Formats: sequence, structure tokens, C-alpha cells
Amino acid sequence: MKSIYSKFVLTTIAIILASTLIGFFVANTYYHQVMKPLNDEKNLKVAQQITSYIEAQQQLDLEKYLVNIASIGYQLYLIDETGRDRFFGAEFKNNQLLEKVKSDVLAGNYYHGMKEFPRETFVTGFFANELRNTIGAPFKHENKQYAIFLRPDIKLLFNEVHTLLGWMIVIMLISSISLVVISSKFLVQPIAKLTSATKKIQEGNFNIALDINRQDEIGRLAKNFEEMSSKLRQLDEMRTEFVSNVSHDFQSPLLNIQGYAHLLEQEHLSQQDKAAYIGIILQETTRLSLLTKQLLLLTSLEKEESYSKAKIFDLMKQLKELVHKYMWLLDEKKVTLTYTIPPVQFYGDPALLYNVWENLLTNAIKYNRENGEIRLTVCDEENQLQVIITDTGIGMKEEEKNRIFERFYRADLSRTRSIEGTGLGLSIVYKVVSLHQGTISVVSEWQAGTTFIVTLPKL
Ligand code: ADP
Repeated sequence: MKSIYSKFVLTTIAIILASTLIGFFVANTYYHQVMKPLNDEKNLKVAQQITSYIEAQQQLDLEKYLVNIASIGYQLYLIDETGRDRFFGAEFKNNQLLEKVKSDVLAGNYYHGMKEFPRETFVTGFFANELRNTIGAPFKHENKQYAIFLRPDIKLLFNEVHTLLGWMIVIMLISSISLVVISSKFLVQPIAKLTSATKKIQEGNFNIALDINRQDEIGRLAKNFEEMSSKLRQLDEMRTEFVSNVSHDFQSPLLNIQGYAHLLEQEHLSQQDKAAYIGIILQETTRLSLLTKQLLLLTSLEKEESYSKAKIFDLMKQLKELVHKYMWLLDEKKVTLTYTIPPVQFYGDPALLYNVWENLLTNAIKYNRENGEIRLTVCDEENQLQVIITDTGIGMKEEEKNRIFERFYRADLSRTRSIEGTGLGLSIVYKVVSLHQGTISVVSEWQAGTTFIVTLPKL
């Protein structure tokens, strides 16, 4: 059987049947161990009462009396010393009885056929309607020796109880099996829903609504499953958007390179045009190279081991070198930079952090106005370090500010179109700062300037 439903139903039915069998078995053992001797004793007393009554009433019409006893619920077998015998009451299914037993009782002994009845399963000892399964008692009547064998007529005495018990067991079995069939459907149904949902996910459909409102483990599983599928959907959307952004960002410089390469093929081309075309091609390849470098860095930052190169390094030296590196750009843009950098040693990944400062500084230069200013401040506090970069550039609107850390996001293209960029820089910054368990905040005023504050805990 393949479905969990049929497995569950079959297992439960098997358990019900097995426990019924165990019940029978235990009851049988109990009968043989405890009840059988008691039953024997009880019936012995009855036999003794009957025989002593017969012996006391010598005038008694034996036949009539025994017919009477049989009619109140006993099966009897009477034999006298001459071997003449007679049955009273309901017939025995099996009339076999050893001659030795008969002569033994006729000789004055009692026969404990009930106690000695062989051990069999299913309480048959109690119900076995056999002459062997009786109590034998001797008595004297009209100077003749008799032996009487007796057992209660179970059919007559317990017929109603018998039927009642039988029906009870049948109804119990039918109702428990049908209840199991119904209730397991209810239990297993959500699992079937979950299974078809996983199939949907496999096929790339992440819109999952399970409609399982339960408080138990399956309910929690369904809730987690829905959350997981919604995360998967977000990831899938991000992946598609990312691929389309990457393709677009590669496509435009490649088209430019192709176009200008074709133009270079022309025969009569002035030196000036040639230099201009080559310049554009070089610019576009630089852009492509930067893009690939940033993409590779971003992907490597997703991996766990990206923070494994942390060590103590001289932050002041690193920042001063960076400023030095960008002197030419500052000059070109006519932007003045002032800084306050105390000597500070910091534990972190120097290469990654260099990327952070570089991105923030180049942004502050790129998005500045002519004759603008940049202020770089490092605050070395007891438990943390703050690096603050303030510029007097184009600033950002509130809605732009909320999106700048997204991959490929570039604010208002009409303003930034002339400025080179990939939209990946701040995503890298954000990721690196998070890896160092730090935070980054931004304060910006539209057309007035922007301040980035990086706070890194000292670990
Ligand atoms: P880009 O390569 O475009 O600079 P970033 O991820 O570094 O990509 O920045 C994302 C966007 O955030 C930029 O396109 C720009 O619109 C905005 N931005 C970043 N830094 C500044 C800044 N100092 N002043 C104004 N806008 C900025």
C-alpha cells in the first residue's frame, strides 16, 4: 500500500484485531488458571446438593426429579450399577466418557471433569458441551448405586448474554473500524495537501494557500510550509530580477563596444574620431570589469566563509591610503575633503572594510556638487567604532533613501545618468557591515547633502 491513509487505516485495524485476540487470550488464560477450578467447585456443590437430596428422600421419583433439575438449566447423565444409563436435558455434543470414570464414580468417588478438561484456546473449556466436561457424583437410591454427571446448560442459562456479548463485539468492531476509516481521512488529508503543495513548488509555482487551520503539529507544519513557500517566492522573484538586471547591465556596454568597434572598421577615419571611439570602448570595458568584480564580491559575501579573513589592522593607515588614492578624483571634481582620523586598531576583515570606505567615499565624490565638501570622521569609542562620511552633494529623497541598499538600485536616473555606477556598491557595503555585526544609517537632505554613519562593534 502506498498512501499513508491506507497504511494508517490498515495498521489501526490490525491493532484492533490484535488487541481483540490478546483480550481473548488473556481471558482464556484467566479462565484456565482461576475460573476453571472455581467453576468445578461450584458445580460440585450443586451435584452434592442434588445427590444428598435424593439420598434423603428415598420415596422420590428419581426420573421426575432429574427431569425437573434438567428443566431449570442442567444437562445430566445418569448411570446405575447395572450399566443402564439415561440423559436428561439438552443433548451433549460429545457423549464420550471413559468406562473407568463411570465405574470410579459408581464406586463412590467424585469426578472433576471440569477442572481436568484440557487446556484449549478461546475459553472453550467453559463452553465445551461434552460429557467429559462435567462433574460426576455418586449416590444411592432404593439400594441401588448410581452415578450422576452434570453440567450447567450454558445455552439455556446464558443464551441472551451470549448473543448480547456477540453483538457487542461485532458492533464494537464495525464501529471502531468505520470510525478509524473516517477519522484517519481527517488526520491524513492535510498531509495529502502538503504533498501536492511540494509538487507545485517543484514545478516552480510558489503561490501556495494550504487552508489548514489546525493547532497541532500538522497545523504548525502547514504554517511553516506556507512561510517557506512565500520566502521561496520572494527569492525566486529576486533571482529573476537579478538576472534581468545583470543581463541588462552587461548588454548595454557590450552593445556600445560592438557599435564603436564597427565604427573603427571604417577606412577613412580621423585620428580624433578613432581616439574618441577607443576611449568609449575602454570606458565600457572598465565598467564591465567593475561590474563583474562587484558581482563576484557580492556572491562571495553570501557564503559563510566570507568573514574568515578577519584580523587586527591599522584602520587609520587604511583610511589615509584610501584618501590618498582618490586625491586625483577630488581634484578633478574640485571637492575638498577634511578628515579627523585618530590612530585606531580594529579587528575585522581589512579587504572587505576597504571596499566599504571606498564605496562610501567614491559616492560622496561622485554625487557631490562642484566645489563641494566631504567630511570624514572616525569616532573611536569604548565598545564601538563610528565612521561618518558627510557630503554636500545632491542628496536623496525619502523614498530613494529607503532603497539605496537594494542591488542594482540607482536613484533618479535623470540626475545620475551622467555619473558612472552599477547600483551594487551600497549593497556590498550593507552586506560587509552586517557581516561585522555593525549597522549603517543614512541622513540625507534633498539637494543639500548626505551623511552615512557606519557603526561597528569592537568584537
Ligand atoms: P552606484 O554604483 O550607482 O553608486 P551605489 O549602490 O553605490 O551604486 O548607490 C546606489 C544609489 O544611491 C546611487 O545610484 C545614488 O543614487 C544613491 N547614492 C549613493 N550615495 C550617495 C550620496 N553620497 N549622495 C547622493 N546619492 C547617493
